[in-house]
Amino acid sequence: MSPQLSHMSDRRHDVVVIGGGSAGYAAARTARDAGADVAIVDQGPLGGLCILRGCMPTKTFLQSSELMALMKRTREFGLAPVTPRADLSAIVDRKNRLVQEFADYRIAALRDPRFTLYESRFGFVGRRS
Ligand SMILES: Cc1cc2nc3c(=O)[nH]c(=O)nc-3n(C[C@H](O)[C@H](O)[C@H](O)COP(=O)(O)OP(=O)(O)OC[C@H]3O[C@@H](n4cnc5c(N)ncnc54)[C@H](O)[C@@H]3O)c2cc1C
Repeated sequence: MSPQLSHMSDRRHDVVVIGGGSAGYAAARTARDAGADVAIVDQGPLGGLCILRGCMPTKTFLQSSELMALMKRTREFGLAPVTPRADLSAIVDRKNRLVQEFADYRIAALRDPRFTLYESRFGFVGRRS
């Protein structure tokens, strides 16, 4: 029996994915590509942990620190020495910009009309609903 979202809609779907993060979005896309009518329920903020607070922000910080570490080794590579200085607000601005770009891309994918997106908290209200 297909699941029913009784509080949000009387519509039925072949597959209801709870959460539109990395895992949920991959599952939803796979099911949709296999021909299923797929709904995604996400209470927001849309984007998921990886983009908003996990993989993406940490990697932007790592990239800045890696560059700084390399700049301290210029002599080793036959380059004139430089004295790198970190501008923390610029590093954070870059992080915010990249996270926003990734989040916008994911949000547009979640709002693709080939899915039904319920921006709401999911909860079971019965054995099949
Ligand atoms: C600091 C940090 C760095 C990381 N770095 C990496 C990395 O480099 N590489 C890597 O592979 N992994 C990394 N991870 C792990 C990665 O972020 C997670 O494994 C991944 O985001 C989990 O995806 P998910 O879809 O399972 O959950 P999430 O991305 O958390 O998605 C869950 C979604 O469900 C929604 N939701 C939750 N409960 C409800 C509800 N009741 N009703 C409606 N919606 C709901 C939320 O709003 C959210 O959008 C990192 C994690 C952290 C914290």
